[in-house]
Parts: sequence; C-alpha cells; structure tokens
Amino acid sequence: EKLVNRIAAGEVVERPAAALKELVENAIDAGSTRISVRIAEGGISRIEVEDDGCGITAADMALALERHATSKLPTDAIEDVITMGFRGEALPSIASVARLTLESRVAGGDGWKRVVDNGVVAAEGPAALANGTRVMVEDLFARVPARRKFLRSPRSEYAACLDVVKRLAMARPDIGFTVEHDGRRVLDVQGGQDQLTRVAALTQRDLAANSIGIDIDRADVHLGGVISLPTYNRGIADHQYLFVNGRPVKDRLLVGALRGAYADLLARDRHPVVALFLDVPTSEVDVNVHPAKTEVRFRDPQLIRGMIVGGLRRALDEHGF
Ligand code: ADP
Ligand code: MG
Repeated sequence: EKLVNRIAAGEVVERPAAALKELVENAIDAGSTRISVRIAEGGISRIEVEDDGCGITAADMALALERHATSKLPTDAIEDVITMGFRGEALPSIASVARLTLESRVAGGDGWKRVVDNGVVAAEGPAALANGTRVMVEDLFARVPARRKFLRSPRSEYAACLDVVKRLAMARPDIGFTVEHDGRRVLDVQGGQDQLTRVAALTQRDLAANSIGIDIDRADVHLGGVISLPTYNRGIADHQYLFVNGRPVKDRLLVGALRGAYADLLARDRHPVVALFLDVPTSEVDVNVHPAKTEVRFRDPQLIRGMIVGGLRRALDEHGF
C-alpha cells in the first residue's frame, strides 16, 4: 500500500518544481491575492508556499491529505475540467515522499496545523497564523533514494522552480507573487497589474514601447497577449510563453508558429518575447495528457497553428513589418 502510494507520488511529483506547481496552483484556486514562495537548495530541502486565500478547516485538512479526497472532482465529462487542479491527490502524493506541514486558518476560525512525514501523521494541533494557508515541504525524496538520485543540482532544480512560478504568475497578473531562494528575493510582482506590465516585469524587457498587443477572435477561439517588435533585438530563446485556457503549457507548436509568423523579420539567432493566451472550447483540447505536466493535445493542431501564424502575421503587418 505504502509502496504503491510512493510509486504513484513519483509520477505526480518528479522534482521540486512539480511539487511547487501543485502548491501554487492550490493557492491560486483558494482565491489568494498574494502568494509567497520560499525555497531552499532548489526546493530539495525546503519548499514553502504561503497564501492569503480562503484557507482550509481542520476537518477538511485531514481529508485533503488523504488520497482521492478532492473537492473539485468534476461530475461532468473530464473535458470540462478547466480549473487547474482536479485529481485531489497532490497533497497526499507529496506528503508520502516528504515531510509536509500544512497550516491554515479560515476567516473567523482558529489556525490549525497537521504534519505528515512520509505518509505518517506526525503532529497535529493549533497554529498561529493569519487567514490563509502555509504549506511546507521538507526533504523531498529523502526516503525514496530511487527518486532522489534523479534530482539534478540545486541550481537547476531552482531554475525549474522559478520557471514554474513565472509561468503561473504570467497567467494571473491580478495576484501578487514573491519568490525567495536561499534567503534571497528573486521575484517580486505586485498584484493588480495588467497583462503587458506583468509580462514585461517577468521577462525583464521594456515591452511598453516595444511590443504589439494581440487580441483576435475567430469562431469560438480567442487569442490574446503580447509579442515584441521584430526590431526589438533583446529577445532570447526562452521568453516564449503559451497559455491554453489560462494554463501554462509547453508545446512545440508555438515554436513552429512563431517561426512561421516572424519568418525572416528577425535577425539571426534572435527570438521574440512572446506571451500568448489562447482560449479554446474544452472540446478542442485535451489538457490531461499528463496531469502533472504542461502538455496539451489539440484536436486540430493545424487550426490552432494557422490561427497563431495568421493572427501574428496580420498584427505585424499592421505595424509595418
Ligand atoms: P486538488 O487541488 O486537486 O483538489 P490537492 O491535493 O492539491 O487536490 O488539494 C486537496 C484539497 O486541499 C483542495 O481541494 C483544497 O480543498 C485544499 N487545499 C489545498 N491547498 C489549499 C490552499 N492553499 N488553500 C485552501 N485550500 C487548499
Ligand atoms: Mg491541487
């Protein structure tokens, strides 16, 4: 039973960044306005996510740490899953391969805390904290050597963690995010920003004067976002972001579409800064290729690719490119 849990956990939680993604998504789902992330040693020794969201009651806390106790399992078809979390097993999975401390307080209630150490409840009791939730994950895979040996250096695990938060923060400019790594503040964006300001802040590019806003409707598909001018030659390879129905995804389709749209407008070895937000009917896309990964499968990839290439071509054209 326990071994089975740990194998399943390994599928959901491959590395610190995967655990962090689940925790930040939970904080987003809780309606938070500020989310603070603190990690140590690339998240291997510690990941901490604190939010000011709705919180979770002491009674629900025990349920949340049990496998398959979700509040969000859809009654309808899986296609209709558009909230980010849906499996109800992230917390129990993480708690089975690390020491997880969950502290929370709902408005008007008292704080409560529960500690699960590698699948075993280690402590429970009152906790002093503001409204919201704090989750701490310590020593990921310390007791799962087969998993631990696949972890990369703290430096590259850290890079993956930061990337996860950046992508989630890009999709939610209404929420404030901070990240501290080994005590150093590495990201700080205020809540209530507009999309352009948020993308510029996260990519550290001067996009206000050097970008084109995208806002295209075609049938029931909407493409929004921001792309840098081909003449703004500060783009580097890893500043291309795609979001499908609000979820950050990594898809090779974007790379090809950008190549098609910008064609030979860009100098050699230059890449545009691009953040595209695609909203498609849930019947057009399968987000559940792998729940813990950032993959999607479009029913008609050519249609999506064509829309991106065509839309960006037209936008560039209108701006004289
Ligand atoms: P899921 O998000 O798929 O429901 P999780 O294991 O990620 O499954 O979380 C289980 C439950 O714990 C959530 O449904 C939610 O009710 C609660 N929860 C987890 N994190 C938070 C949080 N930061 N704030 C409020 N509730 C939370
Ligand atoms: Mg979740």
